[in-house]
Amino acid sequence: MSKTYNMDFKRTKYGRFMNNRVPSNKRYQPTEYEHAANCATHALWIIPSILGSSLLHFLSDDQWETISAWIYGFGLSGLFIVSTVFHTISWKKSHLRMVEHCFHMCDRMVIYFFIAASYAPWLNLRELGPWASHMRWVIWIMASVGTAYVFFFHERYKIVELICYTVMGVFPALVILSMADRDGLFELIVGGMFYCLGMVFFKSDGLIPFAHAIWHLFVAIGAGIHYYAIWRYLYTPGTSEMKTSR
Ligand SMILES: [Zn+2]
Repeated sequence: MSKTYNMDFKRTKYGRFMNNRVPSNKRYQPTEYEHAANCATHALWIIPSILGSSLLHFLSDDQWETISAWIYGFGLSGLFIVSTVFHTISWKKSHLRMVEHCFHMCDRMVIYFFIAASYAPWLNLRELGPWASHMRWVIWIMASVGTAYVFFFHERYKIVELICYTVMGVFPALVILSMADRDGLFELIVGGMFYCLGMVFFKSDGLIPFAHAIWHLFVAIGAGIHYYAIWRYLYTPGTSEMKTSR
């Protein structure tokens, strides 16, 4: 099936760099070059994300910092690992349609957990108001709902999927904005802007060559900025006296 499917894609003027766009109910088939770029642009960040997470673990002063470092580390490295595995399978093992399908779902599910994990250190380590502190567990409910949505409606309503990611990405920020301690807010906003800009490319398969790999790069830059902010403002020695008791 995959062979005939692939043959439907006529080369565009971009030749090996891009195939034709597909209807919204079909999945875009990347060219060989695009496949390679999709794998490389996330594989590159696996080791740095594991090292970065380990660094936060070693910088932790108490159990909440340790727990947050682990949650964030799992989310961060999990995103790059799952994404790389999925893109590798969809490139090289196109006869394993079922496995590819599962990993495609995982690739989408892990985004929800990545978003929740990215917020976790801020929500766990910064002082929040009584109402705002509920966001500590609300984000995990949201991630679970997103996961269930992917499980039941994967690829069916793509615009809903995009809205879910945006709500999940922006909604907890309202709580972050209410923090008494505003250090790191600038980096959080800039990182968030990279994710938002990246979504333009996420939706541009077949319109812009290497669109998905460019989306990956925007994700990596956004994640890098957010990592910097977490490392700098929540874990670096010298800033710990700003933290209040939890
Ligand atoms: Zn991807």
